[in-house]
Amino acid sequence: MKPLTLHLLDLSVPGGTITRHDPGEALIRVDDLGITRGDGIFEVAGVLHGVPLALEAHLARFARSARMMDLPEPDLDLWRRAVLAAATEMADQDALTAVKFIMTRGIEGADSAPTGWALGFLADDPAPAQADGLDVVLLDRGYRHDVADTSPWLLQGAKSLAYAVNKAALREAKRRGADDVIFLSSDGYVLEGPSSTLIARIDGTYITPPVTLGILPGTTQGDIFADLARRGVPSRVDTLSVNDLKTAAALWLCSSTRGAAPIRTLDGRTITVDHKATELLNADLDARKG
Ligand code: PLP
Repeated sequence: MKPLTLHLLDLSVPGGTITRHDPGEALIRVDDLGITRGDGIFEVAGVLHGVPLALEAHLARFARSARMMDLPEPDLDLWRRAVLAAATEMADQDALTAVKFIMTRGIEGADSAPTGWALGFLADDPAPAQADGLDVVLLDRGYRHDVADTSPWLLQGAKSLAYAVNKAALREAKRRGADDVIFLSSDGYVLEGPSSTLIARIDGTYITPPVTLGILPGTTQGDIFADLARRGVPSRVDTLSVNDLKTAAALWLCSSTRGAAPIRTLDGRTITVDHKATELLNADLDARKG
C-alpha cells in the first residue's frame, strides 16, 4: 500500500470536523482501541479518476458494521465528505486508487469519542489477477452456517479491523502454493474469500451466497448483479456446496480493489476461466461513474 492522502475526523465535536494531514504524520494514540484490540470497523472503496466507486454501498456497510459492534452510529454525511476529500486529491492518478476509512472505539479507558480517518492510497494493479486467474484453496472457517444467528458476538459479517485471521488464511493459501481462499462453514456451506465475495456461474445463472451465512454484503458483487440485470443475464443469491463449486461453469472472487478475478484452480482442480465473461464483468465495473 502506498499512502497518498490522509484526512482525520474529529468525532468529539458536534457535527464533527475533517482536517487534512500528511499521510506520514503520526496521529493515532498508542492506547487507541483500534490498535490495542483491533476494535473498530473499516471500508475500502476503489477510486477511479478521483471518483469513489460504490460509495453509498460502502457507507451503508460501514453503518451496518457499526451497529453489529455496538459502535456509535457514524454520521454518514461527514464520512462521505471525508472520503470525497481523499478521493478528489487523487484525481490526477491514472491507476486505480482507493480510500480506506476507519472508525475505532476510541481511547482505552476514557469515555471518548470514536477515532476516525480516511487514507487514500495507490491500489495494486488488478489486471494480473483478472487476466491470469487465481489458484484458490478451500479452508474451513470453523463456524456453522448459522453462526450469525446463534453467536452474533463472533461478529461474522461485520467488517471489523480484526483481519489477522483473514491474513493468516491467506498465508495458509501461500503455504499450499495458492493465491487465495474460499472459506467454508464447518457444516459445508460456501462462504466468501478473506477479502472478496464469491460468484459462481451455474447453468447460465450467476450465484452468490447469502449474507445470512455471516458474510459481508459485497459492494462489487452488488454492482455486478445490477449490471447483469441490466443486460438481462439471470443472477440470484443462494447457498452453494463444494460440489456446486467443483461443477460450476466459472468462478470469480470479487472485491473493490481487484474487480472480478476468475478462479483457475480450486484445491488443485482446474476450473475453466471464461475470459470473455471476465472482461465483460470488469468493463461494466470500470464504466461505473460512482
Ligand atoms: N468479503 C470480505 C471478508 C471482504 O473483506 C471484502 C472486501 O474487502 C469483500 C467480501 C468484498 O467486498 P467489496 O466488494 O465491497 O470490496
